[in-house]
Amino acid sequence: MSSFLTPDEIMRYTQQIKLAEIGLEGQKKLKQARVLCIGLGGLGSPLLLYLAAAGVGKLGIVDHDQVELTNLHRQILYRSQDLHQSKAILAKQQLLALNPSIQVHAYPEKLTQHNVDELISQYDIIADGSDNFATRYLIHDSCFKFNKPYMYASAGQFQGYCSIFHANAENPCLHCLFPNTPFDSKLNCVTEGVIGVLPGLLGILQATEIIKWILKLGSSLVKRLLTVDLLSMTFKEIHLRKNPDCQLCGHCEFVDEPISEIVCSEVSPLKEYAISAQQLIHLLQKNNTSLIDVRSAAEHNAENIGGRLIPLIELPDHLNELNRNHTIIFYCHSGQRSLAALKLLLAAGFTSVKYLKNGAVEFF
Ligand SMILES: [Zn+2]
Repeated sequence: MSSFLTPDEIMRYTQQIKLAEIGLEGQKKLKQARVLCIGLGGLGSPLLLYLAAAGVGKLGIVDHDQVELTNLHRQILYRSQDLHQSKAILAKQQLLALNPSIQVHAYPEKLTQHNVDELISQYDIIADGSDNFATRYLIHDSCFKFNKPYMYASAGQFQGYCSIFHANAENPCLHCLFPNTPFDSKLNCVTEGVIGVLPGLLGILQATEIIKWILKLGSSLVKRLLTVDLLSMTFKEIHLRKNPDCQLCGHCEFVDEPISEIVCSEVSPLKEYAISAQQLIHLLQKNNTSLIDVRSAAEHNAENIGGRLIPLIELPDHLNELNRNHTIIFYCHSGQRSLAALKLLLAAGFTSVKYLKNGAVEFF
């Protein structure tokens, strides 16, 4: 697309052209940018509305779904009269109605390993608006292969995450953060519920990071995971490190075969971090262990198996207090929160970490 700005466009973008950090040159960069958004739901809706409004010149939008009534509390691209119609087609209409000076390419098709590379290779930046880990890995790994920035976000219940992954020798990748997903892949907005504003907020964060990336403004979320908790209204960040044992980027060699087939396999490298109740009892007899309960204070006070209380949501604030020379063992009620805690510590570079796979419920 030509970078020439028409008088109408200059008028439309007046308030952002006024910004010294953007100006006419920045606006031309936005016009020349090509952004692909995969998933046109709660994240993709605000993300695309803002990118279209800001004048990002070429938007690719991918989704094979149709609008359902249960989508409307969070997917603000759609209206009640849109039920059972293609999201990709409707989204294109909405975005062009907002800004007819941009190009919107709609792909009303399911993302698979057969079309992902062709789609991603045509765009500069890829935004993930999907709601499951299999799709996230598919998108991420193709971005990794083509060295495209991957804008990640996920949202569930009242908590969300946002980051950017961009392959190079120093940057961590999505697999460094989430080595495998024995339970995450089953969790999404549909199964665990979500407050509608949460993906809205995260989609706007993604759009912000995309605009900054195009304009090379400020500090990006590369190597940082932003966590959002709407109940406590707290934003925290976790510094991400490369995992030297990462199955994708650990050896920094690009693989020609379909990477997602490898990484989405059922082999769970996290198994090595899972311990049974018997193993826990054995480990606790040693001096160099730190047992940590990541449940809530109320649960801990009701009954516990000892150890220090650090609720999962507060864990990012306490990483510096953990003894890296100890084996850190997390437990919760059933093993899910302690697994999340384990992933946080692995991402933060801890190596000697375990979690009680079936939870403390076995002891109660
Ligand atoms: Zn990695």
